[in-house]
Amino acid sequence: NSITRFSTSVAAEEAIIPPVEIAYTKHLINGHFVDAASGKTFPTYDPRTEEVIAHVAEGDAEDINRAVAAARKAFDEGPWPKMTAYERSRIMLRFADLVEKHNDEIAALETWNNGKPYEQAATSEVPMLARLFRYYAGWADKIHGLTVPADGKYHVQTLHEPIGVTGQIIPWNFPLLMFAWKVGPALACGNAIVIKTAEQTPLTALYAGKLLHEAGLPPGVLNIVSGYGPTAGAALASHMDVDKLAFTGSTRTGKIVLELAARSNLKPVTLELGGKSPFIVCEDADIDKAVELAHFALFFNQGQCCCAGSRTYVHERVYDEFVEKAKARAVNRSVGDPFKKGVEQGPQIDSEQFRKILKYIRSGIDSNATLECGGDRIGSKGYFIQPTVFSNVQDDMLIAQDEIFGPVQSILKFKEIDEVIKRANATRYGLAAGVFTKNIDTANTLTRALKAGTVWVNCFDVFDAAIPFGGYKMSGIGREKGVYSLNNYLQVKAVVTRLKNPAWL
Ligand code: NAD
Repeated sequence: NSITRFSTSVAAEEAIIPPVEIAYTKHLINGHFVDAASGKTFPTYDPRTEEVIAHVAEGDAEDINRAVAAARKAFDEGPWPKMTAYERSRIMLRFADLVEKHNDEIAALETWNNGKPYEQAATSEVPMLARLFRYYAGWADKIHGLTVPADGKYHVQTLHEPIGVTGQIIPWNFPLLMFAWKVGPALACGNAIVIKTAEQTPLTALYAGKLLHEAGLPPGVLNIVSGYGPTAGAALASHMDVDKLAFTGSTRTGKIVLELAARSNLKPVTLELGGKSPFIVCEDADIDKAVELAHFALFFNQGQCCCAGSRTYVHERVYDEFVEKAKARAVNRSVGDPFKKGVEQGPQIDSEQFRKILKYIRSGIDSNATLECGGDRIGSKGYFIQPTVFSNVQDDMLIAQDEIFGPVQSILKFKEIDEVIKRANATRYGLAAGVFTKNIDTANTLTRALKAGTVWVNCFDVFDAAIPFGGYKMSGIGREKGVYSLNNYLQVKAVVTRLKNPAWL
């Protein structure tokens, strides 16, 4: 593997940069780091500088074949699904310990490849990687079937078995967490895995894969292939020997992989897709807190969250005050090198997203929304965009309908609760919603009326390993995290045994 050292133009005293090297750039197949079958590589970038930081093995159908064959063998011949669940959980726990040991290094790699603030990666996301693995390690030996009441001559039980070889395709916005949401429950249930990382952010999953093997994971149980969607991703989604597919990304690609799965072997598919989540501020809400949380709900992670509160609905009586304060907060947002202490916002992930976001800003201006602040790029190098706030946004504007996936807040006005429920639900998405009110009746009405997989009340983006996450409508199929995620990775077998001399007959 090639070794690249981190270097930066940021003055050392201003930045917190733990030493990190890019040591893993090849596919991880059957416990070994290997070149692509074709020998090809593709560049991966630092979004702060637009410079190439490493060349990574580029997977295609042949690499997916090899990875699936390794997973198939590990699953069919063991030892993974045949180990005791306790042994599996111990390996997962050892991995969590190793993640903690290498916390700063992993966080630095995540920031370097993704552009997210280092403090966020180091204090929240890497610790959550360990937390998720510990949570699922805890489940490993608590997964069991039922004894089903059956009158008469039969003893009926269900066995909860691992589903087999699971294919997983993840996006670039939370590379490590998306890895954990999918790999954690799949391993706990005893499955083998082939995961394809996003082409923008291949590095930290490979590092995590190395640590999992250091923790004792047998070869072939987890295989990681880097590469592009239409080649490596499509090969995985349509593979005849993959028993289940889990995907996170855009709704457009979600439809493609669902179709590929259906056309091949009809593998079950879970989808975690896009969103256009409403954030509703009622007239009785604590405005300062609501402003701060609405800001966080949208701008967190450079606005690159599937559940971003990207339609801020504010009651007309507090609208003007809210807009003034939201603007002031956005103007004060500190944007810059994500390795610097105190920086809240780094660059967007790549040139494609960067250009797309600037196009949406242009569309907001052209459709006569009021540009309160921002609207442009920052500097001439790196994908930095000014925190942007639009007021007087109408439901039919493109910026209120499409997932922008960038630092662009749209503020809309409402008058009645019934009206805002209708408007909030008038979207093809249904991933999340935020509700701000001190009135418990209003909160109860809204939480029940909103068609969204998560409703946060007087808070936003509260995530934990135990809290399920997923979407209504075109935001997805199925739930991840929590106990719900286990169902995605299990088969249920009913075993019906005839009794010879039933006591009750
Ligand atoms: P995407 O859906 O194209 O990519 C997500 C993953 O799917 C990546 O690993 C990609 O390589 C893979 N992929 C792409 N095409 C594929 C195909 N034909 N077959 C199999 N796999 C394929 O998302 P993107 O292009 O990275 O981002 C586009 C938009 O998607 C964003 O602007 C945003 O709106 C949305 N998005 C949503 C999430 C989320 O968490 N819901 C995450 C990232 C992006």
